[in-house]
Amino acid sequence: MMARLLEGKDIALAMQARLRRRIKRLSRMYPKKTITLAVLSIGNNARSSSYARSQKRLAASLGIAYVPYDFPERTPTKKIERCIASLNRDSRVTGILISRPLPAPFSFKRLIERLDPTKDAEGLHPENIGRLAYGTGAVYPCTPQAVMRLLEEYRVDLYGRDVVIVGHSYSVGRPLSLLLLEKMATTTVCHIATSERRRLRSFVKGAEVLIVAAGVPNLIKGTWIKKGTVVVDVGFNVVNGKVIGDVEFSSARRQARLITPVPGGVGPITVTVLMNNVVELFRLKVTKR
Ligand code: NAD
Repeated sequence: MMARLLEGKDIALAMQARLRRRIKRLSRMYPKKTITLAVLSIGNNARSSSYARSQKRLAASLGIAYVPYDFPERTPTKKIERCIASLNRDSRVTGILISRPLPAPFSFKRLIERLDPTKDAEGLHPENIGRLAYGTGAVYPCTPQAVMRLLEEYRVDLYGRDVVIVGHSYSVGRPLSLLLLEKMATTTVCHIATSERRRLRSFVKGAEVLIVAAGVPNLIKGTWIKKGTVVVDVGFNVVNGKVIGDVEFSSARRQARLITPVPGGVGPITVTVLMNNVVELFRLKVTKR
């Protein structure tokens, strides 16, 4: 039997409708304040520009002010840091996002540390990651939250389940492992070294829930996946002008019970979660946590 699709679009639309109502309520309560997201981009990158376009569109449709700060690739780091410091001080700015990927030699870790953690729209500041580890955070990283929301909406049981994540990045794999542990999933994180030891296939075989965020087109073969697995493909790769994931979709669909389409799975929820984070930061600020 072919797997059912884990579709993110309708979930994202329902979240957006709720968010719109919440923003309207907040605007009535605080008419002099505007929810504002400042987006800092360095250089020209196709992936970050396409993400920025969808952020901008969604912000406009929700009533969130979107203020881009675009810097050329050769900007000195000090200048970017000064911009972050001034956004931190600016009381009109609710949330700040640093677009990725950054061109070399910029270090995301260095820049994110400069952010005021109470304005960290993606929840990636070390303080917010620390709170995530304790399960006490206000905003969590967007893609991991989007994956959790998708699994929740489709009522995928995680308690004690064997969950395998492929990818251990600071923005996806690692924070996702913490959210899964909160749900008492038995969580394994694989990465490039797992592949180098030729162990990836056997870990994938053991997964009841498989989440792949490696950025390698068709890395996971359908034959590696056991029958009845839930497959979430976070990968977003453009190959010959076509967007494909990290999982070989057609063969995996024959094995899985539920599987995300790419595009249309995690992506639409991620950008909505970002806006939700910004609104939450606004609420926390106006109600003085
Ligand atoms: P990254 O490059 O920061 O991390 C990649 C991870 O994959 C690393 O842990 C690396 O060790 C692992 N990896 C690479 N090659 C591997 C291999 N052959 N075998 C096993 N592991 C391997 O990437 P990222 O920022 O976490 O993004 C991963 C993918 O998810 C990308 O395709 C990106 O476009 C996509 N993404 C999608 C969304 C969304 O909302 N849909 C959001 C963020 C990222």
